[in-house]
Amino acid sequence: MGLDEVLQEIAQGIHPYLAKGKVASYIPALRRVPLTKFGMAVCMVDGAEFAVRDAAEPFSIQSISKLFTLMLAMSRIGDEVWRHVGKEPSGTAFNSLVQLEYEKGIPRNPFINAGALTVLDCLMANTRGRTAEIIRDYARVLSRNFQIDYDEKVYASELKAAYRNRSIANLLRSHGRIGQEPEHLLDTYCRQCSLEMSCVDLARAFLPLASAGHSPLLHETVLTERQARRINAIMMTSGVYDSAGSFAFRVGLPAKSGVGGGIVAVVPRRCCITVWSPGLDRAGNSLAGIAALEMFVRATKMSIL
Ligand code: GLN
Repeated sequence: MGLDEVLQEIAQGIHPYLAKGKVASYIPALRRVPLTKFGMAVCMVDGAEFAVRDAAEPFSIQSISKLFTLMLAMSRIGDEVWRHVGKEPSGTAFNSLVQLEYEKGIPRNPFINAGALTVLDCLMANTRGRTAEIIRDYARVLSRNFQIDYDEKVYASELKAAYRNRSIANLLRSHGRIGQEPEHLLDTYCRQCSLEMSCVDLARAFLPLASAGHSPLLHETVLTERQARRINAIMMTSGVYDSAGSFAFRVGLPAKSGVGGGIVAVVPRRCCITVWSPGLDRAGNSLAGIAALEMFVRATKMSIL
């Protein structure tokens, strides 16, 4: 069966899962997204592309933006990043505060919110201004879509209701782990999370993670092979938060999710797969998205495990 057919079958089979999840309601502007949305895209390292249903429709990428920040920080400041943030799974929710306090303000990994705020703080120190624009432009270049932008409503809505993330930023600052003023850091963080991209944009943008750091679209190396491998390793252990175990069990691929309902998964040396369905499970990962990825690896045997 060709990949076009596989995607068609998944789009048919996914219906029972679509209404089962819940949209992220703690960011008020995300409440309005219909649960019926579903898109999936695959970009192969040889340039072939496959897409189904709402794969070209932009959605709020939320935590998937943490990948852009990490890639930028690693390419600009190298191993220095790992002096600020750990490499271990957290086993706690993405926005948990408890562990951070116990562990003296050192976040477990770059994908929980505390870690993403810390990586962003490093990037802000390095870029000295306009960091949110730099992240947006990086997303535009990697996906070759210069229409990509922030959603002002989602940004403003999250910033206003960011009670937990504000606490995390303040806790980091109280432990002396970040240099930016918490409010300034939080503002840039909410901007990066509000980027709107489609499944196709994301599959193109993160193809270098499947291609040893090389972007087949740009004909350019954007990360070293070692950096790409390391990012995949952290996606494998921490990309879907406290669901890392069950996700490995069901899908077996490095992946990064966002509460907008998107998931990016990487098959090293083969392809980048993205899926979007806004209904979330209790850990904040797309419920139908995980089911779709499970169907995909079952049909194609592309799991790395
Ligand atoms: N902006 C969201 C937050 O910080 C991102 C979380 C996510 O997508 N898992 O809460």
